[in-house]
Amino acid sequence: MRRPVVAGNWKMHGSRAANSALLSELEQGLNPEWPVDVAVFPPFVYLADAVRALEGSLIAVGAQSSSAEPPGALTGEIAAVMLKDIGCRYVIVGHSERRRLYHEDDVLVARKFAAALKAGLTPVLCLGETLDEREAQRTEAVVGRQLDAVTAMNGAETLGHALLAYEPVWAIGTGRNATPAQAQAVHAFVRARIAAQDAKIAGQLRILYGGSVKASNAAELFSMPDVDGGLVGGASLSAEEFTRICAAAAVRH
Ligand code: PEP
Repeated sequence: MRRPVVAGNWKMHGSRAANSALLSELEQGLNPEWPVDVAVFPPFVYLADAVRALEGSLIAVGAQSSSAEPPGALTGEIAAVMLKDIGCRYVIVGHSERRRLYHEDDVLVARKFAAALKAGLTPVLCLGETLDEREAQRTEAVVGRQLDAVTAMNGAETLGHALLAYEPVWAIGTGRNATPAQAQAVHAFVRARIAAQDAKIAGQLRILYGGSVKASNAAELFSMPDVDGGLVGGASLSAEEFTRICAAAAVRH
């Protein structure tokens, strides 16, 4: 059985005071006995604070992005080894906002994935189609292409050290989540594509769904056999919502 994961992507939100309140509310609300891995992804400048605040806690910390390059003359960039150095466990790779707004292509995403792994981080690889692509029946072609870019460069076995997140672009921040059946179809497609290369890794890999996950829809999304938790944006900024989403993941099986 795959242990569910709930990851909160705070995006470019927060302040020292708000983060500290959110984290202490989460620590109070989450039951350590729930069989679920929980992580938060604050903006870079708050990562060290979050690691400190969560010392000894079950909540892990991850970054929202990192450079594909090793440390060097790259003004404004953050190397994966630096994230590892300050105590991050995860890093998001290939989020659609970065693919779309910062022109991160499949090859760059695959290189970032490689750098994250090399640094000892667990990459959370995001895949997802736009609304136009879905309406043109191209969902599998797009998601398959995004996945293949990473496995071709790094090998399918590297997914054994990663998490995947299926995040349809049209569902992110829109309030319009994929239906459980739509999510399940893509998750099953992704798992089967990986199984064609490595059945064991495919069976163990945790594939999260992201896109307008809320306390009110989490349980039905997580009840799908190939949905192993959620990557949560907006709702991760509310301790109550996020805690309820974690509770829904905990009773998944
Ligand atoms: C995200 O940005 O990864 C996301 C899923 O956002 P939201 O939950 O707000 O749709």
